[in-house]
Amino acid sequence: MKIHPVIIVGAGPAGVGVAALLSQCAIPALILERGAVGESFLRWPKETRFISPSFTGNFFGSVDLNAITPGSSPAFGLQAEHPSGRQYTYYLKDLAEHYGLKIDEGVEVLDVDVEDNGVIELDTSEGQVRCRTLIWAGGEFQYRKTIPGTRRVGRSYKHLPKGRHVIIGGAESGMETAYNLVKNGSTVSVIDPSAPWAKRVSDSSYGLSPFTFSRVRSLQKSGEAEFFPEFAEDISEKEVRTKSRTFRLEHPAIDATGFDIKQSLAGKLFNFTDGYAELTECDESTKYKNVYLVGPNVQHEKAIFCFIYKYRQRFAVVVREILSRWGEQSPVIAEYAQAGFLLDDLSCCDGECEC
Ligand SMILES: Cc1cc2nc3c(=O)[nH]c(=O)nc-3n(C[C@H](O)[C@H](O)[C@H](O)COP(=O)(O)OP(=O)(O)OC[C@H]3O[C@@H](n4cnc5c(N)ncnc54)[C@H](O)[C@@H]3O)c2cc1C
Repeated sequence: MKIHPVIIVGAGPAGVGVAALLSQCAIPALILERGAVGESFLRWPKETRFISPSFTGNFFGSVDLNAITPGSSPAFGLQAEHPSGRQYTYYLKDLAEHYGLKIDEGVEVLDVDVEDNGVIELDTSEGQVRCRTLIWAGGEFQYRKTIPGTRRVGRSYKHLPKGRHVIIGGAESGMETAYNLVKNGSTVSVIDPSAPWAKRVSDSSYGLSPFTFSRVRSLQKSGEAEFFPEFAEDISEKEVRTKSRTFRLEHPAIDATGFDIKQSLAGKLFNFTDGYAELTECDESTKYKNVYLVGPNVQHEKAIFCFIYKYRQRFAVVVREILSRWGEQSPVIAEYAQAGFLLDDLSCCDGECEC
């Protein structure tokens, strides 16, 4: 059976982005994708927009925040500042075509085993494949946490009934849910002990983005939203209880508590501490050699890479390591570094803005 040099699981921005760099370094990689290119973005609610703005500043040294290669810009191709999920898939498909990426859509990776000789064997819905290097780019969106008795938002906020809703979780997803429900004529109570709506931080990974803050202000103005900085201790289909109050429910509470990638095969491929995969300096698994993680779940101490403009800076770290293990180099790595697409000094991540 053929042994592929590199297999990437997932054709979201992380998988396509790292494959585009590998292709520029003349490393053939095969992407296995259970759905279509950008599958998670196709599953976003219709109303959801990128919170990070797109703007074509590439040739003045400010690459579009949502670009996954230095020379591309979703704002340019899509003519949109806050693209929808579907729009963004057009950008991903354009890139895949431009770099001639090999993507097998509709192939789900069901299990992974690392043999004693280091060969990595993948059981897929289409049979077995083997590789020397595996890059996990399976993302988090399809691996959500679930609180029994609650519901999740599906393909559109319009599918949720009008009335009084309780939302568990006040980060980006919770606030987006609150905003769309109020827009559709509902009232909402948002419960979150960390009260993100009341925090001002330079790094949006630790608080809300400016896009979402403007929505919070409009929610506060509407008088249709209340915010409770409390922990939801007891959640059932009928009520949600915190230390100080009980919310009787008209509709099941909405769960906006985030994701858990341990539910995916990443749970087998990586060791985890406090919900985050343990990674070496080059984002390799501490459990298996030649198995790497790319995407929003990369974290090194205080540096959280959960946005595209952050995690795209780790593609070159991974690819540089793969090249060096094969005794190779590529000038493209230096080009990525020059474009601000290579971050290996994480001391930058401690900063706060002056004003
Ligand atoms: C609602 C929402 C809004 C967001 N907005 C922004 C934003 O504005 N800006 C920003 O920078 N980030 C944003 N993010 C963060 C976002 O998660 C990431 O930027 C991006 O989706 C992560 O890309 P990814 O490629 O890692 O994961 P995904 O896009 O989820 O891609 C993973 C792919 O892997 C496939 N896959 C998973 N498991 C398997 C398997 N076993 N076999 C085969 N294929 C598999 C999936 O089908 C999927 O296509 C947002 C996230 C959400 C949920």
